[in-house]
Amino acid sequence: MLNIFKTKTRPFATLSLMAVFLAAVAGWLSLNNKTAHIIALILLEGAFFIYFLNRTTSRLAKDLDKFKLAVDSESDHIMITDKNSVILYLNKAAENITGYKAEEAIGKKAGELWGGNMSKDFYEKMWHTIKTEKKPFVGELTNYRKNGQTHTFIVDVVNHRKNGQAYTAELRIAPILDSKGDIQFFVGVERDITKLKEAEQLKTDFISFASHQLRTPLTVIKWNAELLRGENNDNLTSEQKRYLSEIERGEKRMATLINSLLNISRLDAEKIKVEPKPTDIIATISSIISEVSAYAEAKNCAIIFNKPFRPLPLINVDTVLFRQALLNLLNNAVHYSKPRKCKTKVDFKEIEEYYQIDVVDEGIGIPADVQNKIFDKFFRADNAIKFYTGGTGLGLYIVKLIVEISGGKIWFESIEGKGSAFHFTIPKGGMKKVVGEKELVV
Ligand code: ADP
Repeated sequence: MLNIFKTKTRPFATLSLMAVFLAAVAGWLSLNNKTAHIIALILLEGAFFIYFLNRTTSRLAKDLDKFKLAVDSESDHIMITDKNSVILYLNKAAENITGYKAEEAIGKKAGELWGGNMSKDFYEKMWHTIKTEKKPFVGELTNYRKNGQTHTFIVDVVNHRKNGQAYTAELRIAPILDSKGDIQFFVGVERDITKLKEAEQLKTDFISFASHQLRTPLTVIKWNAELLRGENNDNLTSEQKRYLSEIERGEKRMATLINSLLNISRLDAEKIKVEPKPTDIIATISSIISEVSAYAEAKNCAIIFNKPFRPLPLINVDTVLFRQALLNLLNNAVHYSKPRKCKTKVDFKEIEEYYQIDVVDEGIGIPADVQNKIFDKFFRADNAIKFYTGGTGLGLYIVKLIVEISGGKIWFESIEGKGSAFHFTIPKGGMKKVVGEKELVV
């Protein structure tokens, strides 16, 4: 059986000993013989050469042993295959995770044993990366934002253990090239993230359950507050009216938070439907801007909409999702701008095969050192927390999920103290349809 870690150093030691012995014999003969003297010298030189070669190879063998020990005891699944993806080596973790012993797996392909469960697209992309481009495939798709920042997400691989049980793994494969650039081996590293996935699912289920349960008592608070305000408003003292306003404000904030949590659990679980319908997008944007305008006016804030010059055809858009995305960006632009110094601009552009919407403000901006975290769930920058306490850090996360499931991209530029510009796109062919189970809660 092929063992790429096996090395042989013994023959060199034997050769070296023999050469020294022969040199000694020739040396003894050379006392009165010139040819024997030369032979003795050559043999001695040869012996030294073999001795040093032996030392180097045994040091290499020791290093290789250390390396093998490290790879063997690594907790991630590590596999080495030849260029035709036939398995040459499997470490202990790979045996434990897959349930296959190295002896059973060596000489076969992963696809015949535990792999081969992903889509055709996945494998096409993987083989193209490692065989044609000869680059490592990190089980991740890397998108580049326009501002040069990279953003990666892991494509989880579903495999099957020998006992048939499915497990989820994060996959990294690298081609090993020789000096001519030809592929010699592939090294694959897989991390079993089944437990992590289960914990994530539990968290999503809990959020979904808790948000559902919280909605009912909140509706009761809302109705009763409406009743008090509607019927008995005249009988209320000014102090009682102030209390009532506080209850209503609190109820609104809580409802927004619960809806965001519910939407996140649905979007994370990929349960949200995307149902694009032919839409007059310019009229839709105008109506979303007017929804925010009361709040903007209260802050003495102007929202300018730069419409395109030429009329547009109807675009396939899911207006519920689009509205939520634009509303979140517009609300942020107003929240994070100083009153009276607040100028927000919405631009609509056609760029190649996309429509691009920009929301630009002259507000507090985003500090450079946290810009890579801005789309993370619950993340809020320190300058934003000081400026506006009401945020949840969920709005941009939702916008990003909405834009990406519907086939668009989102990115931003920002300078702290000067302002921010958020951009997102919709494919010219319209938002991508997704057959989900649930709708967005608004
Ligand atoms: P929230 O605004 O409720 O905190 P978001 O997810 O909408 O949550 O935004 C996350 C964070 O991104 C904000 O807390 C703030 O730090 C930053 N941010 C978003 N939009 C802007 C903006 N227009 N100007 C400055 N900071 C912003």
